[in-house]
Amino acid sequence: MPITTIIEPFRIKSVEPIRCTSRMQREQLLRRAHYNLFMLPSEDVLIDLLTDSGTGAMSTEQWAAIMRGDESYAGSPSFTRFRSSVQEIFGYKHVIPTHQGRAAERILFGTVCKKGDIVPNNTHFDTTRANIEFVGAEAVDLPIAEVQQPSKPHPFKGNMDVGALQQLIARVGKERIPLVMLTITNNSGGGQPVSMENARAVSTVCRTHGIPFYFDACRFAENAYFIKLREPGYQDKTPKQIAQEMFNLGDGCTMSAKKDGMANIGGFLCTNDDVLAQQEKDLLILTEGYPTYGGLAGRDLEAIAVGLQEALDEDYLKYRAASTAYLGNHISERGVPIVQPPGGHAIYLDARTFLPHVPPEQFPGVALANELYLEGGIRSVEIGTLMFAKAARMDLVRLAIPRRVYTQSHIDYVVEVILEVWEHREQIGGLKLVSEAPFLRHFTAQLEPLRTSRA
Ligand SMILES: *Cc1c(COP(=O)(O)O)cnc(C)c1O
Repeated sequence: MPITTIIEPFRIKSVEPIRCTSRMQREQLLRRAHYNLFMLPSEDVLIDLLTDSGTGAMSTEQWAAIMRGDESYAGSPSFTRFRSSVQEIFGYKHVIPTHQGRAAERILFGTVCKKGDIVPNNTHFDTTRANIEFVGAEAVDLPIAEVQQPSKPHPFKGNMDVGALQQLIARVGKERIPLVMLTITNNSGGGQPVSMENARAVSTVCRTHGIPFYFDACRFAENAYFIKLREPGYQDKTPKQIAQEMFNLGDGCTMSAKKDGMANIGGFLCTNDDVLAQQEKDLLILTEGYPTYGGLAGRDLEAIAVGLQEALDEDYLKYRAASTAYLGNHISERGVPIVQPPGGHAIYLDARTFLPHVPPEQFPGVALANELYLEGGIRSVEIGTLMFAKAARMDLVRLAIPRRVYTQSHIDYVVEVILEVWEHREQIGGLKLVSEAPFLRHFTAQLEPLRTSRA
């Protein structure tokens, strides 16, 4: 019999204890945090699935590279190694380091966008949207229709609606569209991949109209692996070859190295346009730093140079996709409603279906996330009515999996906790808002339960 168990393709060299608490302690901690998981000290969390951004574990090679970091202000060999690693995969002429993905967005949109412009994307990530709106332009989401049905699987649910893109260009004119963006994988759409065929179609539309085409490349390696698994013709290609083919369809990208850069901080901006690159570097010097470090330490550049290559390792990607799917499949086969199919970096629970007796105005996503904490010390994040107010179309709870951090027994524990919460879901009540900030209220909002769960 062939061996089919997929294992963590690493062993542990340094450990970080995590702290168990009792349910009674967690009830007190949650009350003190005003029923908002963002306000919990992370030491009081057992399994932290708040985000996969910057929370991954670095490898021995990354730590070794960190010691090689050269902190020269200009012309550091760490930058040369960083640029070579980025260019080998992404293939773009200019590589501009930034401290995070959003800094790359700010510089890109601050350079190419003006008031009245329109930027289409499959789905804008919230910082991408904010940076476009900040310069007075409009961010338009053009996902495929299947996104509206959380329980319906689709191999490439992250795709852009190419027909809608063509209609938009015809309606507003290409002069108002400084660039088209494609987010791989589609984070806000559930970590769902974009197919090569879709990227090629978007690229063709852009080339026809002379509109630049950029990738939001945060999870490019996970996207490449889904293409290898699901798209005909790619089974025998390596994830790196697939990533190279995809980036070749575009003119540049923004990237957060906190995702598939396998680093704790960092990002970059790429372009093939010489004139634009010069303008971007001028702006970079103003807010981020000199173009050979861009707000990062030399050692950060080294960690990213190694991390980008490790993210494309096939054994790693196989384990990554398998461990996320493992969580999703084990809860959905017991009836727990999730966004289907499982994405690359996270599982999304459908809180409106999970808690049908809690209406959206009583924050079912927050109620469910809080109960997962009370039951098992797990921290997740609500993506719904608390985050988006009336604009929320769904109430989801995202369980994001940090890279190379948790083992299968941790995930087995998470499965058990979710199934226990599923069993007593009828006893979970909603919440009311006690105080909120004028914008991005989910980070600091204070809430109160309408009735105590498990009385
Ligand atoms: C995280 C993320 C960003 C922003 O990157 P930061 O490093 O957090 O600033 C942009 N787009 C997508 C799709 C992301 O997931």
